[in-house]
Amino acid sequence: MGIRYSGPVLLAAAVLLALTSCSAGQSAHTSGSETGGGAPVVFRAATDDPVVFLTIDDGAVRDAAMTTVLKKAEVPASLFLTSDYAVDEPEFFRRLRDETGSRIEGHSIDHSDLKGRDFADQKRQICRPARSYTKAFGKRPRLFRPPYGSYDETTLRAADECGVSRVVLWSAEIKDGTMSFAAADRLRPGDIVLMHFGDNFREDVREFVTQADRSGLRPALLEEHLE
Ligand SMILES: [Zn+2]
Repeated sequence: MGIRYSGPVLLAAAVLLALTSCSAGQSAHTSGSETGGGAPVVFRAATDDPVVFLTIDDGAVRDAAMTTVLKKAEVPASLFLTSDYAVDEPEFFRRLRDETGSRIEGHSIDHSDLKGRDFADQKRQICRPARSYTKAFGKRPRLFRPPYGSYDETTLRAADECGVSRVVLWSAEIKDGTMSFAAADRLRPGDIVLMHFGDNFREDVREFVTQADRSGLRPALLEEHLE
């Protein structure tokens, strides 16, 4: 299953980015930056399989119950961890990953807004966690999500040099137990859903499962549908 990009998808995702709190204050980017020679950007996977992907960001809030919640829901997730949080308690994330069939990916050192920063600075924010996660988690991250969904062409070039295969944005977001969509009013095959390690973790996962069921989609691992 390959990845392709299409105008409507990018437009829809740009609209979502403009709406979502994770990108508050950031302007939506244009599709032109997708072809600048750096790592490709994805908002959703191009697949006809009835699958949908959960991604969970940051890692500031941690609770052992989160592992149980995901495990019971039988939802694997891509965990885009901010390094400052990941290195706080790597055993928490290792256990969550191992018990739920999830993966650990990159989300910068300290959750800086990368857009507009120089190449060396952006590369440091992407490469350093990639190296430390290789040690801490036994596998080098291949995906990167820029904090706030905010990036420029420099980000894509830096990501490419850090061995990132895809810069991953999202096409739906769950917050406070409610999902908002990039397009239409329901999930579609290949949608990438954003949520956070936060206080409403249980409600957010429940909303993900409810919306996936409603659309007849199966939670799957994003990494297995990108590469
Ligand atoms: Zn974040």
